[in-house]
Amino acid sequence: MLAIKGKLFDGEKVDEGVVLIEGGKIIKVGKDIDTSDVKVIEGDFITPGLIDAHVHFFGVSNDNVLEWNITSEGLSTARSVSDMIRLLSAGFTTVRDLGSKSAVYLSKAEKEGTIIGPRVIASGYSIAETGGNDDPKDLPLDMAQRLSYSFYCDSPWECRKAVRLAIRQGAGVIKVYASGAFSQGGKVKVALTIDDLKAIVDEAHKAGLKVASHAYGEEAIANSIEAGVDTIEHGLGLTESLAKEIKRKGICYIPTLATYDVNPKISKLDEEIREKREELIRRHFTDDMTIAVEHELKIAAGTDYVGSAERPHGMNYKEIVLLSKYMSLEKALSSATSIAGECLGINAGKLKEGYVADIAIFGKVNSAEDLNPFNVKYTVRKGRLYDSKVLRDLFWDTIKR
Ligand SMILES: [Zn+2]
Repeated sequence: MLAIKGKLFDGEKVDEGVVLIEGGKIIKVGKDIDTSDVKVIEGDFITPGLIDAHVHFFGVSNDNVLEWNITSEGLSTARSVSDMIRLLSAGFTTVRDLGSKSAVYLSKAEKEGTIIGPRVIASGYSIAETGGNDDPKDLPLDMAQRLSYSFYCDSPWECRKAVRLAIRQGAGVIKVYASGAFSQGGKVKVALTIDDLKAIVDEAHKAGLKVASHAYGEEAIANSIEAGVDTIEHGLGLTESLAKEIKRKGICYIPTLATYDVNPKISKLDEEIREKREELIRRHFTDDMTIAVEHELKIAAGTDYVGSAERPHGMNYKEIVLLSKYMSLEKALSSATSIAGECLGINAGKLKEGYVADIAIFGKVNSAEDLNPFNVKYTVRKGRLYDSKVLRDLFWDTIKR
């Protein structure tokens, strides 16, 4: 048994108290808990273990689509083991990988206790149309498909098969590309048809899996809502009427602000594409976020970090910092704990009896910046206590890769 004592953020609000842990679960939370026979860990600020609802374990040194594809499964998985440890040292106890070659293996190994790190909910390969955003189009198709971390599909039945293939890999969530991103002719292209998306959602839901939809632009967001997806990823181009539908259907909105906050390597893009890209991002950081907050959408924290030097695992708290510009610190923290837990459908993200004992123990926290990894003292994952500094000293340098 282990007791953790201090200022508790339980997933919604802050109060002094004690969390009692046994057998990997939280068995009691409160003020009047007798801790005389129990090992007590004290912290200045204690939160549920942090959740990043959108990552990729690419294990790459350079951040571009070709490198994501040509880095071998073995090297990508091996490098990601240190990413897992860094995430754990930074207080992250659950991450959701939305498309990679390595995450299903990381998920399995963490579950069986072979490696340490956050719980990984992995999509396996993502589902995308042929010639889409993540298809390295300079390669012959058969080679591109062989190297890709997506299954390509171009009709409802092909897409059902693609979902079944991802489930066969061990998927715990299904990721679909309802649009491209920025690189296609300067504007965002809608991907797949509404019938394809409906088939994907139906097939995933039959298997008890949620569907995460990469959607840039109004049409892709509208298609995703109509098809019945569970989370909208990125969601650039949100409108009032789309927000109302997202709210009505209880869909989660994951704006992945951190991924647009890095200095992107855009040297290869021509002027027109770059301008449109920057304009969309500017709107995302103003209009989209204002609408999402006003409509009280369930906003979950997701960085879209991939494990490169520009988007390194371990610095994922940055999404909370960016979200806190639009909401209170408590609300931003909820996005990375209780709300994210709800969006992912897991019993994590709260300091509450019966929940998994995933906990982050910080030094003093006055603002979201204080949630940085160097202020994490301990992380508890499934009841096991890890000294963050020890983990950091071992693996922080690998961040530069
Ligand atoms: Zn992503």
